[in-house]
Amino acid sequence: MIGRPVWIAIILVALIAAGCGRAPEPPQGKMIVAASIAPLYDFSRQVGGSLVDVELLVPPGASPHTYQIEPAQMKVLSRASVLVLNGVGLEYWADKAVDAADNPRLIVVRTAEGLPIVGKGKDPHHPSGNPHVWLDPRMAIRQVEAIRDAFAKADPAHSKVYAENAERFIQKLRALDEEIRKRVKTFRSRSFIAFHPAWVYFAKEYGLDQAAVIEESPGKEPSPSHIRKIIETARKLKVKAVFAEPQFSPKAAQVIADEVGAKVLILDPLGQPPNYSYIETMRRNLDRMAKGLGR
Ligand SMILES: [Zn+2]
Repeated sequence: MIGRPVWIAIILVALIAAGCGRAPEPPQGKMIVAASIAPLYDFSRQVGGSLVDVELLVPPGASPHTYQIEPAQMKVLSRASVLVLNGVGLEYWADKAVDAADNPRLIVVRTAEGLPIVGKGKDPHHPSGNPHVWLDPRMAIRQVEAIRDAFAKADPAHSKVYAENAERFIQKLRALDEEIRKRVKTFRSRSFIAFHPAWVYFAKEYGLDQAAVIEESPGKEPSPSHIRKIIETARKLKVKAVFAEPQFSPKAAQVIADEVGAKVLILDPLGQPPNYSYIETMRRNLDRMAKGLGR
């Protein structure tokens, strides 16, 4: 009988001889994490604390829907232990990037996987459904849990710290959920026109109504007939607010708002540098909604 340590040694030697010496190993120093969008970047920093170095892949001002990944970010992926994605078709570039990074120890976590996704198979442009789950803090909690589990898998020695950090942040997300619920209840108007269908989960959770969407396919200009249809709907429903976003031009939103006497509210589904706080971003969004829908 050959003992277990001897077997392990034989396997290791065989692996190294086969030119594949990059077997999984615990991270040295800070664990490198790549996150696709700002909210996931913030969640990753909250869960990882001082144990991780998080790199944001989709830079400020860019939309994840139309983004092209660059060589510098491929380099990050080749050194990272965890890649935090949303999934549900948001990061259309991810599979290719992961292949090209050729990093066998990279753990890829698609944080929206397993959540109740809206619109699956309904839109040929988005066959996997609507990806914007993070804009509902209750869904965000599930994403934080997925990140916690991925970090524990990549760095088991610190799994307890990741669990504690996650729990602390989840408490804050629960408080945010309460705050939104209370505030939306006081809104006098509940219908809005969306720029792109980012606020579907938020609307569903807190009782708002997305009456229409200006740009149904990100990056594709709406046709004049589509804009006319939206104006008609907005008049019929007496819509008071058109949600626009800093990542896209507000031109079409302004045209529609002027036509029906509504306000354009710039809502940010991603967050801005330097601190990318998800909670602060959501509070700002809530303040703006209150301005447009509150009275
Ligand atoms: Zn989007």
